[in-house]
Amino acid sequence: MKIMPNRLDRGFQLYQEEFEKKALEILRSGWYVLGREVSSFEEEFAAYTGGKHCIGLASGLDALWIAFRVLGIGKGDEVIVQGNTYIASVMGITINGATPVFVEPDEYFNIDASQIEEKITGKTKAILVVHLYGQASNMDIIMEIARKHNLRVVEDCAQSHGARFRGKMTGTFGDIGCFSFYPSKNLGAFGDGGAIVTDDSSIADDVRIFRNYGSEKRYYNKVVGTNSRLDELQAGLLRVRLSHMQELEEEKRKICSRYLAELCHPDIILPDTREGATHIWHQFVIRTEQRQELIDYLNRKEIGTIIHYPIPPHLSEAYQYLNVCRGSLPVTEHYAETVLSIPLYNGMTDEEQNFVIDAINAF
Ligand SMILES: *Cc1c(COP(=O)(O)O)cnc(C)c1O
Repeated sequence: MKIMPNRLDRGFQLYQEEFEKKALEILRSGWYVLGREVSSFEEEFAAYTGGKHCIGLASGLDALWIAFRVLGIGKGDEVIVQGNTYIASVMGITINGATPVFVEPDEYFNIDASQIEEKITGKTKAILVVHLYGQASNMDIIMEIARKHNLRVVEDCAQSHGARFRGKMTGTFGDIGCFSFYPSKNLGAFGDGGAIVTDDSSIADDVRIFRNYGSEKRYYNKVVGTNSRLDELQAGLLRVRLSHMQELEEEKRKICSRYLAELCHPDIILPDTREGATHIWHQFVIRTEQRQELIDYLNRKEIGTIIHYPIPPHLSEAYQYLNVCRGSLPVTEHYAETVLSIPLYNGMTDEEQNFVIDAINAF
């Protein structure tokens, strides 16, 4: 049995008829950018998160950099972020000329809130909280620190649609929640897409104007904006998927409960969930010191895996200019050397799961 780490085709097949019907409806409508599907999706997604406003954008990265842009955070400013994240989180900061200041993760792969305060300087303007792999971060403590030091909070929710901390949805704690709808995310489109969620109507207005060349009224441009619009086709298809989010989340939760209950190997550490947090399982990430051996062994059995992520941003070629040396973030670097994401997707069969579990247990 050949098992891939992810199967986007399965996610399509689950609601194939609805997706195809919606796509045809939009293709035949003659209206393709910023229309009824986008505004309906924005309303529905805001309601889903419990946030007041949602603005659809072209990608998760756009959501991040536009968030810092409208908050006025740029050159000379510092933003605190965890070391072990997807590089897009960091690019959202540096595209604006601001400087990322890295903090080590805790055992849940999220920012270790107890290490934030020591990184705050006179230049610190914000904390970028990444709810990595689908688990909500330790928001009680993070929000308390932000209030105490008068810092903005931006949430990178690219992997956490629907994850909650003490009942409240990720993306609604801070000033701005940034979402990605890249196809592999828990709420995935069939191309690129993103969104910003915020309770602040003036931020919402700024983002809405900024995404469309800085214009509110056509051809009257208030600021130098960008083109970052969610298109009608993606918005319509996202509406279909959003209407099934509960089933989709439930299915992934079931798969991961089986992994947690049945995976058992002395050299493999299973992921844990923080008290008060929920996990929507964007990835099921294990840790092992024998990672390469495990990858090779699983490959021989035709089971695919992915490393999220092999090179932490501070060690990537792109960020050599930050001069954050190897060894300066030992936990982050150790995670990069030991994490492994095992197959997980909506539409994964029991047989496929049995095969993965048996193979890993026999490693
Ligand atoms: C995917 C992802 C992004 C970027 O989203 P895109 O839509 O691909 O631009 C940002 N941050 C994290 C944590 C992600 O996983």
